[in-house]
This record gives sequence, C-alpha cells and structure tokens, in this order.
Amino acid sequence: MSWEPVIGLEIHVQLKTRTKMFCRCPAGFGAAENTQTCPVCLGFPGALPVPNRTAIEWVVKLGLALGCEIAPRAVFARKNYFYPDLPKGYQISQYDLPSCINGKVIVPLQEGEHEVGIVRAHLEEDAAKNVHVGGSSGRIGGADYTLVDYNRGGTPLVEIVTEPHIHSAEEAKSFLQLLRQTIVELGISDAEMEKGTLRVDANVSVRPAGSDELRTRTEIKNMNSFNHIGRGIEAEVARQIEIWESGGAVEQHTYDFDVASGTLTARRAKEEADDYRYFPEPDLVPVEPSEELVERLRGELPELPGERIRRIGEALDHERALVLVTGGLDSLWEETVAAGADRVSAANVIANQLVGAGVEPATVDAAELAKLVEGRDRIPRKSFDDAIVHVGDTGFSAEPYLAQEAVSDTSALEPVVDAILAANPAQVEQYRGGKDGLLGFFVGQVMKETKGAADARVVSELVRSKLAGG
Ligand code: ADP
Ligand code: ZN
Ligand code: MG
Repeated sequence: MSWEPVIGLEIHVQLKTRTKMFCRCPAGFGAAENTQTCPVCLGFPGALPVPNRTAIEWVVKLGLALGCEIAPRAVFARKNYFYPDLPKGYQISQYDLPSCINGKVIVPLQEGEHEVGIVRAHLEEDAAKNVHVGGSSGRIGGADYTLVDYNRGGTPLVEIVTEPHIHSAEEAKSFLQLLRQTIVELGISDAEMEKGTLRVDANVSVRPAGSDELRTRTEIKNMNSFNHIGRGIEAEVARQIEIWESGGAVEQHTYDFDVASGTLTARRAKEEADDYRYFPEPDLVPVEPSEELVERLRGELPELPGERIRRIGEALDHERALVLVTGGLDSLWEETVAAGADRVSAANVIANQLVGAGVEPATVDAAELAKLVEGRDRIPRKSFDDAIVHVGDTGFSAEPYLAQEAVSDTSALEPVVDAILAANPAQVEQYRGGKDGLLGFFVGQVMKETKGAADARVVSELVRSKLAGG
C-alpha cells in the first residue's frame, strides 16, 4: 500500500512595526534585556492596551495577499495560561472572530500548480523570551536557571493557519518560500527563521493514497530553517507509516525535531494541555476596518510573488519561476530576456552562476549580462566564470570577455581527449556498456585539463565520436 502525507502548517510572523502591539514600547530586537518595557507589556494591574494601527493594517494587507476575506468585525480574546514569559497570565489573541479567513495560495510545483487553503490569519501579541541558562541544549531540560527578557513581550505577531492541503515536504517548503517572499515584499516583516521572526509548526498525518480521510495528526515544533522543516516532516511521515504498517495507531502528540540526530522527541503531555478559557478581551473594542480602508490597502498591493511565479512560469516553468521569484531574481531575469537573452539560459545563469558568485542582482546591468549569456558557448569557460564574478561591478563591459575565443580547433583538442580516455579505461567501458551519463565526466576532465579554455560543445562531439568509433 502507498501512503500520502497530509500536512497543515501554523506559521507565526513577527511584524516589524516601530512599536509593540498594545503599547508604545519600541519593537524589534538587539536592545539590552528588559529595557523595552512598560506597565502595559509587563502586565501591571490597571494598565490598558491600545492597539497598533499599523499592525491592524498590515494583517489586512497580508490577508488580502493570501486571498482571504477580511472580517468586517474581528474580536480580540484572552488566551489564558500561566508561564513566566506571560506576565499578564493571558495572551491577547484573536479566537473565534479573526481578522482574515478563507484564503488560498497557489503553490508552484514541478508537476504543476497546487492550491493550499488558508483557514485564517489573525493578530496576537508575542510572549517574552525565556533564556535557559546552563545545560547544553539551550532548552529547559538540564538548565540551572531561566532568565526572562520582556523586550519581546507584546510584539505584534500574525498567526497563519493552513488547511491540511499540503502533501509532501517539498510542497511545504515551496509554500513557505512563497509565503515568506510575499511577507518580505509587503514590507511587514523580515521573516527570518534564524532570528525567530518567522516560526513554523507542522501538523502531520498520513493516509492511504487515494483516500480522503484525515487520520490522527502529530505536531512538530522547533525547526529553524526550511530544510529542517522538510527533514522533520519526512522523519515524521516515515515514523507514522511504520506505525500503521505494523498494526499500531498513531497517537496525537507534539514532537521536537532534533536536527543533529534527525530524530523526534515527544514533549511532555502537560505542555500541550489545551484549555485556554478564551473569552473576549474586555479592554479592547472589536477591530472594524471600513470598506474604504480595505479597498485602499488592496489598491496598495504590488504584483505579488505568486502572480509573478504564475506569469513567469508560463514563459519558463514553475520550478525555475519559483527559484527566480523567491530569490528576488525575477526582475533581473526579465530585463535580461528583454535585452535579448534566451529565457532558459538566462534563468540558469542567474539562478546558478550569478548567485553562486555572490553577485547582488540589483547591481547588474542586464544588457551586459544578456551579451554574456548569449556569448557563453563561444568563449572559454574560464572567461565566462571571470566575467560573472565582475558583472556587478560599476561600468562592467562584457566585450573584453567575449573577445576571448574558446579553443575549438579539433587538432589541438584531440590529443587531450585521447589522453583522458586512455587514463580512464573503466569509465570508457561503462560508457560503452550504456552509461551515457559519463559523457559529462569526460568533458569535465578535458575542460579541467585545458583550464577551461576548450569549447565544451566541440569537446563533447569529439568524445562522443571517439567512443562510438571504437
Ligand atoms: P486545533 O483546533 O486543534 O488547533 P485545527 O483544526 O485548528 O486544530 O488545525 C490545526 C492545524 O492542523 C491546521 O494547520 C490544520 O490544517 C492541521 N490539521 C488538522 N487536521 C490534520 C490532519 N489530520 N493531518 C494533518 N494536519 C492536520
Ligand atoms: Zn510596553
Ligand atoms: Mg487551531
């Protein structure tokens, strides 16, 4: 039997407003511990919250970008629990009436597009930061004591919840790349996982392929890069399949993914006891954005990454379009193509060589890059590589690089090819036995031997004909 993973994501995004969600303390990190606090975010009795207008506008903007309906009336609620990072004893969040509901995001995948439903996006405040001191893991287990930094407490967060419409680790990563790029381009957050301004929990279950049942899910937390999320999901999917196949049943639980060992450890059940006694926040009025405001914000949306991926994907393919757009490379690609470069070659050079050389796309003169892309096959590999390293320099010209000719004279190349074939008899035999992929190996060896000066197409023809000839 084959199994289909079923994945839903819960994402927290820290907004980069100047001040916190319900007070005027500066938001954002880097300041000395416990210097960005006031009676409101420290939860002193009698202090009253005042909502941050910018945060409210930004969640609406994000909701619109995710195709959501914007609630004409959203309500803040108290989510009650006791923990040192929550001085009020409750977190202000949105519960049954969130700001944004029923959205959808089109995710580009190799095999085509896939729609992921968005259940909701709501506003809440972040908790403070617990710092566990002593012990080796930085976690509470084994620590000697814990310090609390209240600077982060009360920072605006948006929580986004997807439907369980994601069916592979790869798709989860593509979705997140697209979401992240959208958030960054809206200018509402830096959305950096390493800094904790983007945090993702994955809900995972599996089901027999082809069925539409929803089986028991588990939740994975504590993953700090898109790759770790992918690996965490894969590990959990494998674990669940094994349980079902050996006649057991998956139990609902929360796990931490440990990157180093690639294993999942269960959290104590107590930590997930889910009784928060939500009730409407009596100190705040409902959020009632006017139709004018929503329409103004809709009008301010730029062409979104998802739309650009779709448009560029039609001219290219979804995968390359995703790489270009989520890498912030698509406008350079468009200009380079407009300047006369082949679409696919331009995409490959930009996504691979240019990024590999660490060139900042905004510094590149697209017309010069287009000349390089088009002239690439006529010049030595080394000249091309050198040119790419410098293509972002001010006043860069492709001409001197394009003036260098690749060695395409077969009488000069033949002896090198012969020597390489003679030095690799085992590979020659495998190639003749049908392993065509080794052609690239031989060509690579010749290129190395000629220090990149040979014309790769000529070399490739030479190798092919010699190996076919006998
Ligand atoms: P809760 O109310 O317990 O938080 P939700 O229904 O809000 O549960 O779902 C939380 C997250 O879990 C959502 O992202 C949702 O898509 C996902 N989810 C729900 N059921 C499943 C399932 N069977 N398999 C995988 N993910 C699921
Ligand atoms: Zn404050
Ligand atoms: Mg939920």
